[in-house]
Amino acid sequence: MTLPHRMHIFDPDAADVVLGYVRERLEMAEAPLDFPGADAALQGALAGLISDSGSSVAEVMRRYDEVLSRAVISADSPRYLSFIPAAPSKAALLFDTVVSCASLQGISWLEAAGAIAAENQVLRWIADLAGLPASAGGVFVQGGTAGNLSALAVARDEGRRRLGDPKAAVRIAVSGQTHSSVHNALHILDVEPFPVEVTDHRLTGEALRRALAADANPQTVVAVAATSGTTNAGIIDDLAGLAQVCDERGMWLHVDGAYGGAGLLVDSQRGRYAGIEHADSFIVDPHKWLFAPFDSCALIYRDPAAARRVHAQEASYLDVIHTEDEWNPSDYAHHLTRRARGLPLWFSLCVNGVGAYRQAVTAGVEMAQVAAAAIEASEHLELVREPSLSIVLWRRKGWTLADYQDLQDRLLKSQTAFVTPTSWEGEAVGRFAFIHPNTTIEMVQEVIEACR
Ligand SMILES: *Cc1c(COP(=O)(O)O)cnc(C)c1O
Repeated sequence: MTLPHRMHIFDPDAADVVLGYVRERLEMAEAPLDFPGADAALQGALAGLISDSGSSVAEVMRRYDEVLSRAVISADSPRYLSFIPAAPSKAALLFDTVVSCASLQGISWLEAAGAIAAENQVLRWIADLAGLPASAGGVFVQGGTAGNLSALAVARDEGRRRLGDPKAAVRIAVSGQTHSSVHNALHILDVEPFPVEVTDHRLTGEALRRALAADANPQTVVAVAATSGTTNAGIIDDLAGLAQVCDERGMWLHVDGAYGGAGLLVDSQRGRYAGIEHADSFIVDPHKWLFAPFDSCALIYRDPAAARRVHAQEASYLDVIHTEDEWNPSDYAHHLTRRARGLPLWFSLCVNGVGAYRQAVTAGVEMAQVAAAAIEASEHLELVREPSLSIVLWRRKGWTLADYQDLQDRLLKSQTAFVTPTSWEGEAVGRFAFIHPNTTIEMVQEVIEACR
């Protein structure tokens, strides 16, 4: 073998093909929505590509571009209105390429101080938005699911510590709208949910107090998993009321703002988050409403030392990174090796400015209000409830689930929009989630027309 190895020689032609594709994608004013895929066609495109001697860059990219990429519905299209869309800024996408090409990791201060300092600058900005104290800190993890699991592991262990029994059976309070990832985390952590009965799908301090008063062992409920922006309807729990109960009883307050945390930037919405400053842990996904590429969740603890007690990994070969009083992001979640995934947001925030972020998040809230007005003005649609944050639930009078599914298929075929139904109080309904600042009311009107 001669050095350098042929896999590690720069090939300008390959770079032109791949970077040309990247540039083309970045230049698009609107990403194409594209289509669901059929396995037979995808298998045909993949056939023979992995071989002993390798395939040409041009051929692999051609099959990716012409077949594979067309079978991925673009979450960053402004016509993608399902689930929670994505809308990464151009600057964030560009810098994501830098993170990749520089193999930027953010494991320990010893290895990656420069990257970690920049990530921490963004975490501080988020902590300030929430009003968390100077002691707060955390780490960017893969997604809200990972953030919730890591935070609730700390909540559980802190609860057990307070009870004086490291194996105590403890419970964590949830509501009917708590995200599925929290239930998944509780299952993994072997923690029972403590379901709280609520009115209008909003977890309040009063409802929690009532549920605890009716329970035989309320001291075993050691934490609350509150939501600041439910995924299905954008509802923000009564964080101030919950914080009060947590304070009285020494419970941990976790706030899941994976989707809705970004609403802290919107002046008209800020008051709805009152109490968030008392959170013991808080998450928000930059890959949702903070215009970063996949995958990224900011996880912040009021007292990072508590997280370190749970998550820092001990191993003889790791001793060198634990010798100093330095910030090691790996110590704050269930992971070790990690991409410096906070940097695309950091770069975008630096070059665009906070004002652009405030404007772009506000656009989502305003679009929900404008879309709601258009629904009310139509003859055939009606609102299921008032929109909250950037989510609108609506119904087409007389429709069943099959009709909404048919609409989804028709809209994709015509590349008008991606709109999947959800269920609300047992009924199949339509739902819009607005994240992309380039979504227009005309796009929404096209969907409303397609419902006739
Ligand atoms: C999306 C979401 C999650 C899960 O986040 P992922 O990044 O998809 O893992 C958790 N909670 C809420 C409220 C969400 O909207």
